[in-house]
Amino acid sequence: MNYESELKVAVEAVRKACGLCMRVQSSLVTEDEVTKKDDTPVTVADFGAQAVICHEIRKSFPDIPIAAEEDSSELRSKGGEALVARVLEYAAEIFPGMDERGLVSAIDAGDYGGGNEGRFWTLDPIDGTKGFLRGEQYAVALALIEDGRVVLGVVGCPDLPLDLEHPDSGRGCILTAVRGGGSSMRPLEHNTPKLIAVSDINDTKHAPFCESVESAHSSHGDSARIAELLGVKAPPIRIDSQCKYAVLARGDASIYLRLPTKKGYVEKIWDHAAGSIIVEEAGGLVTDVNGKELDFSLGRTLSGNKGIVGTNGLIHEAVLSAVSEVLGPGEET
Ligand code: AMP
Ligand code: MG
Repeated sequence: MNYESELKVAVEAVRKACGLCMRVQSSLVTEDEVTKKDDTPVTVADFGAQAVICHEIRKSFPDIPIAAEEDSSELRSKGGEALVARVLEYAAEIFPGMDERGLVSAIDAGDYGGGNEGRFWTLDPIDGTKGFLRGEQYAVALALIEDGRVVLGVVGCPDLPLDLEHPDSGRGCILTAVRGGGSSMRPLEHNTPKLIAVSDINDTKHAPFCESVESAHSSHGDSARIAELLGVKAPPIRIDSQCKYAVLARGDASIYLRLPTKKGYVEKIWDHAAGSIIVEEAGGLVTDVNGKELDFSLGRTLSGNKGIVGTNGLIHEAVLSAVSEVLGPGEET
């Protein structure tokens, strides 16, 4: 299968959602942010982007369920009316006919539980909400999973420089991958995809690594020890969201480390599905910290995995052995 129509719809949906996020970010007010039950922030843009993408993909693929990060509970709770009005204002710029019911129904279309049978989409409407709120990097990530395996990924990075070394030469891109078809990048505004590839660095001393800005999401102390063991000289590239997968897939970084900070934390499928296929199709490798393949067939979380190690492939074994030296032997998950 070449997934041509799925890819076309997914790219357009992600592009529209990126536009919404950029408009919200440029006029963000404090009321646009609320704290969820799990104590993480969510904004008008997270809800708006989820509504736009679910609405768009439901129109084209009504029978494919969606496992997405957000639901409408905050919008329906006491005091949520103002938030609904703000989200609707942005969503209706894209879908003029959309009303409150349509908005909530589109958001709650993302309630699928995942699993190992058939096809479903998985969506993070804004990955890196903390980066979005700081005015830094964030991503819109959408993937298609088939029988437990990621087959297509689209990551929109509205503020990512097209070239990290020359941030003034243009920002905003969409990365895509289809299983067996390579990975591409296009500017946010144009449909001119160009193939991308991971770096060809095979000496870890020359391998720059990337990690989360938030030290609560990935241990900076452990990564510093791993970098020392590997002889990595460059300072870490700290960047929020699946933009880390994007910079690895383009060769700006050669290692992505996501090292557990909290016992029992399980990664969410929408935080890794799209990004990981983009790295793999660009020639890289993505596993967990124990070298295990990511298992997207277990529901909404990666409950069979622990942390993430992504590389250009050439240095994967070397990085995994440094990881295991610092973290200790892997336990059964
Ligand atoms: P990043 O941009 O790399 O900081 O990752 C953002 C993602 O981290 C969010 O989408 C959350 O789902 C996820 N997250 C939240 N808490 C943790 C944690 N303790 N460890 C790892 N990831 C987390
Ligand atoms: Mg996320």
